[in-house]
Amino acid sequence: MKVSIIGASGKIGSVLSYLLAKEPYINHINMISRSKSLSKLEGIKMDIYDALAASGTDADIEVHDDSDMSVVEGSEITILTSGIPRNGNMSRLDLAKKNAEIVKNYSRSISKVCDTKLFVITNPVDVMTYKALIESGYEKNQVFGLGTHLDSMRFKVAIAKFFGVHIGDVRTRIIGEHGDTMVPLLSATAIGGIPICRLPNFENFPYEKVIDAVKNCGKKIIDLKNGSEYGPASAIVNIVKCIANDEKRLLTLSAYVDGEIDGINGICIGVPVKVGRKGIEEVVPIKISNKELEMFMHSVNTIKEYCKKVEKI
Ligand code: NAP
Repeated sequence: MKVSIIGASGKIGSVLSYLLAKEPYINHINMISRSKSLSKLEGIKMDIYDALAASGTDADIEVHDDSDMSVVEGSEITILTSGIPRNGNMSRLDLAKKNAEIVKNYSRSISKVCDTKLFVITNPVDVMTYKALIESGYEKNQVFGLGTHLDSMRFKVAIAKFFGVHIGDVRTRIIGEHGDTMVPLLSATAIGGIPICRLPNFENFPYEKVIDAVKNCGKKIIDLKNGSEYGPASAIVNIVKCIANDEKRLLTLSAYVDGEIDGINGICIGVPVKVGRKGIEEVVPIKISNKELEMFMHSVNTIKEYCKKVEKI
């Protein structure tokens, strides 16, 4: 399977290239970046080849600048990680505007030359996923974003640590915006199949504190080490693997909703989706409590407001 990574010179793009090169179902990786970063890409490629030799894995890696996107042709998935990070003086809207332009340009140039699944990582990811869907003109199953998958993993870590259980035994889900208005679904949270609220120590679980920490986790990692790449890149590999192997897992990604949840439509937002070889094979029409729905609507309205503001870019 061939995969293209746009923004491969960045922190997430470079770690992702390395992780994907080691996956057995990937035989061709295109690392793409602006021409000014081409030599950096060459260096990353050489470094990854050394790592592959050490692990006895084989993959072809090509590096390209973004002047001719026809190199993306034949990619099962194209992962868009290009974007500027938010700096101190920048508002969320400034970031959205700047990144919307980048996402628009790549979405248009990619869709002109090939039919691929477009996987958006650039923040604010729900707004950017919607922008990519509109600008690419692709089908709704073909365009999706990392959404709240990473937030769900962060919540999972906190639960496993508090209850002192193996992370693999924890099932949970956060839906909504990858941002302040995210909605943790305690109703979909269980340890070893037992609903979390029925566990003996649940009344001591510092829920509000944990959710605050999940919301601020990305920012805290950036403050401490100037960027977060292992978590996001590993989360992206989960999704790529699911598509490559047609796993039909229910994951929480930013996907276009068309009335499946309480009639909401016209937006890309973190929702449970069935992921397989076709990309988003189904948005799972879950029923959530009134309180959860109220919070979800807050997420919907926040994302819609931003989508409107970057509509004309
Ligand atoms: P990074 O290290 O700063 O890399 C950014 C990449 O974007 C680089 O390849 C850079 O290319 C490229 N780029 C910057 N400005 C560009 C422009 N005007 N046109 C084209 N390409 C441009 O950032 P990162 O840490 O990898 O993060 C990448 C994106 O993922 C950010 O938007 C970040 O907020 C987002 N993110 C999302 C999640 C999620 O859960 N959805 C989690 C973490 C991060 P050069 O090397 O040429 O400068």
